[in-house]
Amino acid sequence: MSFLNHKNNQEHILPDVFTAVKHGVTARQVAEMYGIEVNSHGMACCPFHDDTHPSMKLDERYYCFGCHASGDTIDFVSNLFRIGKREAALKIAADFHMPYDPKGRPRRGQPVTPEQKKEWEIRQLQKDFREWRGKVLSDLNGDYRILTERAEQNAPTDRNTPFPQGFVQAYNDRTLVEFYIGLLETAPLETQINLYLHDRVAIAALDDRVNGRGQPRISVREKLEEKKNLLKAQRDGAVNQQKQRAAI
Ligand SMILES: [Zn+2]
Repeated sequence: MSFLNHKNNQEHILPDVFTAVKHGVTARQVAEMYGIEVNSHGMACCPFHDDTHPSMKLDERYYCFGCHASGDTIDFVSNLFRIGKREAALKIAADFHMPYDPKGRPRRGQPVTPEQKKEWEIRQLQKDFREWRGKVLSDLNGDYRILTERAEQNAPTDRNTPFPQGFVQAYNDRTLVEFYIGLLETAPLETQINLYLHDRVAIAALDDRVNGRGQPRISVREKLEEKKNLLKAQRDGAVNQQKQRAAI
């Protein structure tokens, strides 16, 4: 095949597994896929060192502020499962159902076409949406039950006094919960995907409010500071013990 022909046919050629995976999913997506909890700031507890407060930032790539581990999607999976790069790429492609050319080799300077990238993004969006919809419907149905109970408990007993605050809040929240459930159960798919794209933060906030979960009280920076202090205290403790032992 001549170079020209090759170029003309480029969009019909599937990428090799490395290219497919690198362009198709982010480090954050693979981390979440393999059970690592990533918070709304894109931070997670680092799986590569003993981490109790999230010090790893995940996005397209990952970086740990604690142990300085960093890399791309494939590096992440390779290190997480202690497998080779190729094995990691094959695992990601299988788990994310990504199309690739099994005989393809990575070609420098010839990444995926915009059409391929778009197709992967749509595929990923649909997958994310389906997962989100299932979880959110179950959360919202739980919220509906909680709010019905709460509204009943706080129901006004006397028509001459104003509505108790708890009643108004529970009643309003329940109306909103009902509205979202209705959309997710009956609205056209496009409307549902729009809800996922634009309202999922508001829906999560509603669910948090109903369940009495507030915003995280301390920031990542404060958590890191806290962790540094803890480590320092442990080190000082160890030093003191050594001194005591030396004194005996
Ligand atoms: Zn780390």
